[in-house]
This record gives sequence, structure tokens and C-alpha cells, in this order.
Amino acid sequence: MKCDLCGGKIARQLVSYTLFYEGQWIIVDHVPANVCLQCGEKLFEPGTVEHLQKIIWEHHKPAKKIETPVYEYA
Ligand SMILES: [Zn+2]
Repeated sequence: MKCDLCGGKIARQLVSYTLFYEGQWIIVDHVPANVCLQCGEKLFEPGTVEHLQKIIWEHHKPAKKIETPVYEYA
């Protein structure tokens, strides 16, 4: 399997999935993804995306809450 963007090698890794949803950042830890070792592109399988949406939409109780500092560049 090769990266669509750069042709780099793809490896299966556990990554953090971040999504801005209803005014806050949501992070799902340890999500299996195919990650390009060259450019870092993350590819999620359709089943994984479905599961992520289910977790987020059904508002499961999060495992933990962290504060996310956001900086303005200007
Ligand atoms: Zn790539």
C-alpha cells in the first residue's frame, strides 16, 4: 500500500483523531489509521470513520478531559 499524495510507504499506527464539533475540540485517542511515513497523511478506513462518528454523535462519556490552549498568530 502506498500514499496517494506522495507515493510514500504506509504503516498502520494508532493516532489521535481531532475534530472541531459543537464549538469545542474533540480528541479520540488510539485510533487505528494508515499513516504515510513520508508526508504524515493519515488515512482512515470507512469502518473506523463510522465508529468515530458513532462515538462522537452518541456523546459517550469521555475517558478524560483536557484543556486545549489556542493561540492567535497575529
Ligand atoms: Zn505521503
